[in-house]
Amino acid sequence: MSDLKAKLGLNVFKPLPSPHIRIRPGMERDPRLKAAVRACPAGLYAEGADGVFTLSIDGCLECGTCRIACGTAVLEWGYPEGGAGVQFRFG
Ligand code: SF4
Repeated sequence: MSDLKAKLGLNVFKPLPSPHIRIRPGMERDPRLKAAVRACPAGLYAEGADGVFTLSIDGCLECGTCRIACGTAVLEWGYPEGGAGVQFRFG
């Protein structure tokens, strides 16, 4: 796992003015989001003790796994604008 974190740490993430993926308003407690917590390779989803799911978009790999796992009824999903988002480095 630490090897994966080290490799992910080589990537550069250029911030966006607004997130390109969002949990739809009112869907923050939807159990379908558990799949994103388990599947997101960058570990960007979390479930709080209060049952509210959160997404921290910095470091998103733009892989689409969360969209497939949860569906667009739960997530607003898009690619970032050109010049923003992830820049892969393989070291
Ligand atoms: S697109 Fe991939 S890396 Fe980005 S939040 Fe979804 S699962 Fe995580």
